[in-house]
Amino acid sequence: MDRQQEFVLRTLEERDIRFVRLWFTDVLGTLKSVSVAPAELESAFEEGIGIDGSAIEGFARVFESDMVAMPDPTTFQVFPFEGGASGESARMFCDILLPDGSAAWADPRHVLRRALAKAAEKGFTFYTHPEVEFFLLQDGPLDGSVPIPVDTGGYFDHTTHSVARDFRRQAVLALERIGISVEFSHHEVAPGQQEIDLRYADALTTADNIMTFRHVVKEVALSQNVRATFMPKPYTDQPGSGMHTHLSLFEGERNAFYDGDDPQKLSKTARAFIAGLLVHAREYTAVTNQYVNSYKRLFPLQLPNVVTESPAFVSWGHLNRSALVRVPAFGKPNSARVEVRSIDSATNPYLAFAVMLGAGLKGIEEGYELPPGAEDDVWSLSPAERKAAGYEALPENLSEAIDVMSKSELVAEVLGEHVFDFFLRNKTAEWEQYRREVTPYERQRYLGAL
Ligand code: GLN
Ligand code: MG
Ligand code: MG
Ligand code: MG
Repeated sequence: MDRQQEFVLRTLEERDIRFVRLWFTDVLGTLKSVSVAPAELESAFEEGIGIDGSAIEGFARVFESDMVAMPDPTTFQVFPFEGGASGESARMFCDILLPDGSAAWADPRHVLRRALAKAAEKGFTFYTHPEVEFFLLQDGPLDGSVPIPVDTGGYFDHTTHSVARDFRRQAVLALERIGISVEFSHHEVAPGQQEIDLRYADALTTADNIMTFRHVVKEVALSQNVRATFMPKPYTDQPGSGMHTHLSLFEGERNAFYDGDDPQKLSKTARAFIAGLLVHAREYTAVTNQYVNSYKRLFPLQLPNVVTESPAFVSWGHLNRSALVRVPAFGKPNSARVEVRSIDSATNPYLAFAVMLGAGLKGIEEGYELPPGAEDDVWSLSPAERKAAGYEALPENLSEAIDVMSKSELVAEVLGEHVFDFFLRNKTAEWEQYRREVTPYERQRYLGAL
């Protein structure tokens, strides 16, 4: 038993913790959990816990359903605010193994680990910093009716004594107590919309943190009798919830995106990485934006009084908030980074980080040239102007995104054959279900008129 494992067992005993939740994630990014008694953990560290993979979306074909969840002691965390009368609880993330001890191909954590190992072969560590947006709602009607937000606040509004401010305080405190550092939190543009930005860390840690974040935010909301949702676009006439993610590569202690001699302080590595993100953007959009609803957000519409700052075209720029990739102003060399703005809050963070990294690395491997940045507002250009400038449109809906992804060698390679096939099948089924649905919109528009 190693020192981390001993630490876990000792902590459980000292704090008299009765339940340890072992967490893992299915291919779509849904959190899965199995509770074990502390007495079982010693053997769990050695042999793992047997799980039936066929019960989990995308994990296994029936004939190979025996799988093993192997707890990762470096992710051990006590949840001091959960457990109620039965005391504190704790959790660990797991890696999923096949009975022979090899990694299960369907485990999203493994997909990301494999992508990170590829970066490490080239000497890079990959860091991410997500800005997570979500809505806080007074109620959570699940019948399709329009939900009521908790407030009428707007961008950076300071709402005195409001549910949202209290909520953000509680949520940030809860996150800090379990070791997830929060950099900023503020009210977002839409009524009820919030943003909480996590401090940057290596991509596996941030992906784990996002899974934990979603759980904690939902729990804190419930404890205040409101509902938090990471649905990408709950309202037709309000902006959606993006999860802008800042990416950087380090070589040891050095930020590989920084070059003090370049007029824009961007290294060749950074430029090729951005070029990779752009060249392959259409291919990985199905992963970063995986639901039918995601594409209602990636819409080039500016409503009166509301700016929907989500990208619809493939471009990059510095100050440009209509761009898919933005290079934020940075002071210190180590803060050099690029921000991907298409990705939304309902993505599977493991898979999304893996495909974005894969695209960037491809740019570096192949020495892609970065086209000039777009400093104009890409939304307000005419289609002809956009074509002349070479700004391709992102997929307009899930169907188009699946189609482009299905032809992508890069995405197939990064996800691995099993996840790639499962994902395409699952998303095709989602699209077909949506496609056959006759919506209230159609009845409103056609029933009387036709
Ligand atoms: N909500 C916007 C989006 O959908 C982002 C707004 C912002 O952070 N400036 O991406
Ligand atoms: Mg922000
Ligand atoms: Mg924001
Ligand atoms: Mg941002």
